Amino acid sequence: MLTLPWMKPKIKSRIFIIDTSAILSGKPINLDNAIMISTSSVYNELKPGGRDYQTLQFLIEKGLSMNTPSQYSIDKIKTISNKTGDIDRLSVADMDVLALALDINTAGDKEVVILTDDYSIQNVAHVLNIKFENISQQGITKRFIWSRRCRGCGKNFKENLKVCPICGSPTKNIVSNRENIRKRGRDNR
Ligand SMILES: [Zn+2]
Repeated sequence: MLTLPWMKPKIKSRIFIIDTSAILSGKPINLDNAIMISTSSVYNELKPGGRDYQTLQFLIEKGLSMNTPSQYSIDKIKTISNKTGDIDRLSVADMDVLALALDINTAGDKEVVILTDDYSIQNVAHVLNIKFENISQQGITKRFIWSRRCRGCGKNFKENLKVCPICGSPTKNIVSNRENIRKRGRDNR
């Protein structure tokens, strides 16, 4: 059986999940004494040969390992992100990152932190009580509430409708509200 990093005995308690935006930021990720993991789908989003691929290889040399989330958690992320309206902004790799964090959180004894600059990942993570930290931005203090607006008649819908049921025009995502969130990602450095 594969031994995953967080299953080893006698471990540091924090696990950082590196997403694609963290790698694309090109910022040095310096996580001494921390476990770093990512997903195979993040790995597959990066083309061999480029700078970002080099960053990834560097992180792998530093101990970054690739993991696959459970289907149960992937399904849960889909459900939650559909409710928050973030689902259209999440790639397969983004979903996997969130699902992996959920798996580890559910397992219990480890603290997981997603390293990401992606607001939709942060939004969904917040809803699920998963910690996150920014690589290159200041961190969100507001949680976006998304809804959809018809491009034709202008009516707003809470549901994630691609086509307006009234006039048949396509809809677009809008921020319908913002609410304050605690700076969950930054309080625990
Ligand atoms: Zn309409």
